[in-house]
Amino acid sequence: MSIQVHNTLSAKKEEFVPLDGKNVSMYVCGVTPYDEVHLGHARAYVTFDIIRRHLEHAGYRVRYIQNFTDVDDKIIKRSLERGISPRQLAEQYIGDYFTQIDKLSVKRADAYPRVTENIPAIIAFIEELIKKKYAYAVNGDVYFRVKAFKEYGKLSKRNIDDLNTVARVEAGEHKKDPLDFALWKAAKPNEPTEVTWDCPWGKGRPGWHIECSVMSTNLLGSTIDIHGGGQDLVFPHHENEIAQSEAHTGKQFVRYWIHNGFVTINREKMSKSLGNFFTLRDIFEQYSPRVVRYFLVSQHYRTPLDFSDEKLQAAAATLEGIDTTLRIIDEKNIPDTKDVRHTDYLVAFNAALDDDFNTEKALAVVHSLKSAAMAKVSAQKSVGAVDLNTEKSELLIMLDRLGIALPPSTVVPEDIQALKAQREQARRDKNWGLSDELRKQIAARGYKVEDTANGTSTVIKKN
Ligand SMILES: [Zn+2]
Repeated sequence: MSIQVHNTLSAKKEEFVPLDGKNVSMYVCGVTPYDEVHLGHARAYVTFDIIRRHLEHAGYRVRYIQNFTDVDDKIIKRSLERGISPRQLAEQYIGDYFTQIDKLSVKRADAYPRVTENIPAIIAFIEELIKKKYAYAVNGDVYFRVKAFKEYGKLSKRNIDDLNTVARVEAGEHKKDPLDFALWKAAKPNEPTEVTWDCPWGKGRPGWHIECSVMSTNLLGSTIDIHGGGQDLVFPHHENEIAQSEAHTGKQFVRYWIHNGFVTINREKMSKSLGNFFTLRDIFEQYSPRVVRYFLVSQHYRTPLDFSDEKLQAAAATLEGIDTTLRIIDEKNIPDTKDVRHTDYLVAFNAALDDDFNTEKALAVVHSLKSAAMAKVSAQKSVGAVDLNTEKSELLIMLDRLGIALPPSTVVPEDIQALKAQREQARRDKNWGLSDELRKQIAARGYKVEDTANGTSTVIKKN
């Protein structure tokens, strides 16, 4: 079964075929570290985590790169306000990024390149664009000549004439055409020297878009398989990345452009001015990261996702239902060492993810499987124990694939497992005194032992 991916470039679903056999190159635009990570970031990075996990499951070797825009107007402005250096400010919020995003079980990227570490490569890239007449330097700034790139607008489906009517030249800019955008910005008098570099056009720093073209090309090659980000990056950021990269290399920059939908709060756009701006730190004070992750994957990544307390509470309740099922399975199951044979549920789950990473459909399969397990338990209530090995195995596989951590109560620590094994041995040896002693030790640690008919036992956390 092939994987279908919605490609923003073609505006339709396409079969995913990487350029290089089983190797997949993937670049996702990272954060500008000048403030705490918020729900919009969480949605983007969970989306691309799901995509990466599914591709890896399908047998691809994914190389995943995500940058930090550690030089930017907003970073400079805020660092001046706080009286710290831009680098200190960026470092602080890069730390916050990892602290919060790690809690959501997002796998780490293979590399996190930063602008400040790539200045010579950025200058060389811009020099090449000037040489090819796609860019020009004026008063220490360098601009990209948009009209020189004939396919400009192909990603965002805008045409040059429409853009012409809205483009303007801001104060302090020296563009020859309002459509042109900055590749390099001349240093301003009050800017810290820490974010100013010597270059052939005087002192200055890179504009925003150029870094992604340079880092993607240098780390992954001229043409990559997947480039991703939030829908708000389609224009102008990704449109500009295409123009710079394809003008530079003469090759297609990205084969599959993937964009996740917006997050709204009570159906309104999330913004600081509306006072409905939620950082992950705030949200985690009320909801566990497991619940937030569950909520984030509860809808397909392309649809708008509306956040509200009611929806988070509903997600928490639904997840609790899954946790309860797992607990009941642990209580009732007769552990079996036979290989677990995978069923149609897992097939349907994979098919949902193959279809443009549809986590919403995949979760529907999780719920059907959960109901089937509970039905099996109800049907055999009088017997007391039932073979739920397949259901348990598949539920755990599915949760892992969606990056939903296991409920704390079902994770039994290793030392408890060891006590359990010793006790099983004591029972086989008919050493009832030792067996009883071990049961007490396990109980003192907050776990309950249940013996099954076939001589084995399970331990579960007491509530
Ligand atoms: Zn980018």
